[in-house]
Amino acid sequence: MATGRARPTFAADAMLGSLARKLRALGFDTSYYGSGEDAQLVRFAATEGRVVLTADRELAGFARARGVPAILLRGGSDGKRLSEIADAAGPLGLALVTGDPLCSLCGSALERVGKAGVSAEVPASVQRSHRAFFRCVRCGHVYWKGSHWKKLRSLAGRLGQKQLATNNRRGEDGGSAGEGDP
Ligand SMILES: [Zn+2]
Repeated sequence: MATGRARPTFAADAMLGSLARKLRALGFDTSYYGSGEDAQLVRFAATEGRVVLTADRELAGFARARGVPAILLRGGSDGKRLSEIADAAGPLGLALVTGDPLCSLCGSALERVGKAGVSAEVPASVQRSHRAFFRCVRCGHVYWKGSHWKKLRSLAGRLGQKQLATNNRRGEDGGSAGEGDP
């Protein structure tokens, strides 16, 4: 391990699917439990060293009682939930530095691909107006830098206001790999 704190990994409960997708896109390895028992999720998080994310107070308490860090989220939107994660990160000793986007669907790495490699899957209008395309190495889903990326940058900013400024002085102007330019 390099010096400094590693980027945290998360295990999100069944109610937090869209938050899990956003965290992946921000570069955080996030497992999403669409079903299954609380005990199973907590055991999995403990085994893999993941932080439990949940909107369920009982589940948060259950995890903490077993020594698994958990963040209880009460926000009604993913933006608010990200702010809550940022608030909780300090006390838990988590370094919320965003990384290269991961596949929102399966959490695997994305690789840059040329336009020719995606011509069959990407609408012609998108091919005309975009240059950077990425493909998930596992599920093959294709991404490009569009409004989705812009939205993510504003979400990263939400984390950034609280955390990134201290961990990562590159600021919110982009330029760095990770926020908008994987
Ligand atoms: Zn994927």
